[in-house]
Amino acid sequence: MQHTQSYFHEKDVQTLEATSAIFRLGKKYGIDHLRDEAQRRLAAKLPTSLHSYDTLRHGERINTPRGFTVECINLARNEGLLRFLPYCFIRLNRYSISTIFNGFRLSNGKLLTLSLSDQHIYVVGLTLFRAAMVEEMFGWLVNSSCQCSSCSDARLKHAIMLLKPDLNLNQHPMTKWKESWEDGLCKSCIATAKVSYEVGRKIVWEKLPSFFGLPQWKDMLEL
Ligand SMILES: [Zn+2]
Repeated sequence: MQHTQSYFHEKDVQTLEATSAIFRLGKKYGIDHLRDEAQRRLAAKLPTSLHSYDTLRHGERINTPRGFTVECINLARNEGLLRFLPYCFIRLNRYSISTIFNGFRLSNGKLLTLSLSDQHIYVVGLTLFRAAMVEEMFGWLVNSSCQCSSCSDARLKHAIMLLKPDLNLNQHPMTKWKESWEDGLCKSCIATAKVSYEVGRKIVWEKLPSFFGLPQWKDMLEL
């Protein structure tokens, strides 16, 4: 037992392959602590709440080489770990559509691909996700009671930058409020925009699974 548990110094960085193997081992032989620790390790990289998204740290628990997200999606599908899929899908946002369709060439020469059904789910979901972001999180760019012309100019400037087709937020699409978005806005506009953004961010996070045809968070977390 001592030997088995030595796999799980939580701070150690593991490969996804190792974590997956340990998860499957724990599941197959009913060794709950192995399965649970592997799930915790996955959860450290694949948040299932907005709080864990906000506190996500790079370089912890599991290595994230090229193709990591696709490997995680395939793992989640194979093992029924649906709760990890919403974040995986929005994490794909950092890659071009052609990369996702053509697959990821790994250093060992292997081509890693997303299943055709998940490619379809991703493209549909991404459209819904971006539309919800514009509607719920960035409404403050277009709606304001402040008539001040410098605030209107600033909003227009931010809108041009933020509402590009890629929303200019590839790496962290659900990012916390950024101070740079306050440039040129009056105090009142800043306060209103921040509240509106945070409320919208919570709404979008709650809706995230639905964009990708998944059950609600609470149902997936009970699985
Ligand atoms: Zn203003």
